[in-house]
Amino acid sequence: MTTYPVEQLSRWDKEYVWHPFTQMQEYRREEPLIIERGEGSFLIDVRGNRYLDGISSLWVNVHGHNHPRLNLALKNQLDHIAHSTLLGLANVPSIKLAKKLVAITPPGLNKVFYSDAGATAVEIAIKIAFQYWQQYEGGRYKTKTKFVSLGEAYHGDTIGSVSVGGMDLFHAMYKPLLFHGYQIPAPFCYRCSFGQTAGSCRQECLTVAEQVISTHTAKIAALIIEPLVQGAAGMIVQPPGYLRRLREICTRHNVLLICDEVAVGFGRTGTLFASEQEGVHPDLMCVAKGLTGGYLPLAATLTTDKVFDAFLGDHAEAKTFFHGHTYTGNPLGCAVALESIRLMEEGDLINSTREKAAVLARELERFNELEHVGEIRRQGMMIGIELVKNRTTKEPYPREMNIGHQVVLHARRNGLIIRPLDNVIVLMPILAMSLEELKQVVDITYASIKAVTE
Ligand SMILES: *Cc1c(COP(=O)(O)O)cnc(C)c1O
Repeated sequence: MTTYPVEQLSRWDKEYVWHPFTQMQEYRREEPLIIERGEGSFLIDVRGNRYLDGISSLWVNVHGHNHPRLNLALKNQLDHIAHSTLLGLANVPSIKLAKKLVAITPPGLNKVFYSDAGATAVEIAIKIAFQYWQQYEGGRYKTKTKFVSLGEAYHGDTIGSVSVGGMDLFHAMYKPLLFHGYQIPAPFCYRCSFGQTAGSCRQECLTVAEQVISTHTAKIAALIIEPLVQGAAGMIVQPPGYLRRLREICTRHNVLLICDEVAVGFGRTGTLFASEQEGVHPDLMCVAKGLTGGYLPLAATLTTDKVFDAFLGDHAEAKTFFHGHTYTGNPLGCAVALESIRLMEEGDLINSTREKAAVLARELERFNELEHVGEIRRQGMMIGIELVKNRTTKEPYPREMNIGHQVVLHARRNGLIIRPLDNVIVLMPILAMSLEELKQVVDITYASIKAVTE
């Protein structure tokens, strides 16, 4: 147990810590929940209360907390070295992990550039795509400098990542700081921008995408997308075939495809990577969150030989990719990532995840009975339950009701940690969670939504 009294920790938290994505004025009115330990699917606070981790500690945890094999891999690496630089030097775990990532990611992705967060992995993809066109074939395509992104997109919080973001609530404030690109409509079928329904859809969003891309192809470097599910937007699940068609459009118009698999990668959607489900081979791919099984901040941007080769040249040509972070390729992170991937393979985690996801789908059906559940969206183990004030008109709850937060607080009192995206209740269970625990997550969520909305 902690050596400080809980009250003191709580006071210090309110006094010294500025929490991310948090209105601190409200946060400081509530008693902070201070986590001290983890055990499998559970988080344990400083008072010894146990909570199911229903969002995998913000979408990162894969095998559970305090996993003996991951702990051991980390301790072993620690006995060798905690960190050395990749600038001009190599280290053992980063070599092994790069080889492994190339083997398990979609075909064609043969080079691995490390960083330390999803946002940095995206920044790197953006800079690589930009510089690629500056240098490819002697700069024949130098005008290709802009990016296409989706409405409602979320790619992280650094300036470049926000520039390709499309969530007004998070991003509008920073508009004056951002670079300009092209936005295509999100394929958000529940709230279709073209007013269509499943029966009337003629894939207008794809038609617009092709129009934008074909009109501006001379100016477009790349299109960036979260494949299959736009996570932070509220778990917007793309209709089947959407990603494949976008890939075809990009190929047809000489535009690179960046797949941001930061959230969807490492088994979340029912396959190791989401792109696989559509048979899509991106030109660049970003991974982070689940990469280390939720242990350490490590990310990677993968790309093809073709892209990589455009950066080769004599020292004086300055075709080098001038980018790096101090902790790039951190050996501890790489060692634990390797062990996490090994565990996934040994335990056949992807197949068992698919089976659990099927159970989850059945368990979620009864949420449709709740009067204020507008839509239940699910892809694999990523779930969004959109709460609406009026089910018929799909009228959202007003922001000041903070309905998502109310549900979260109720769930917390009943032993479940979740975090909403505005009015969407998110469930993102630890992939290794047992069926029994999963059912508990669903039961508590159901009861909480019912209690708060009825
Ligand atoms: C979380 C997320 C990011 C940002 O990752 P950080 O590690 O928080 O910087 C980028 N893209 C997607 C799709 C994400 O879900």
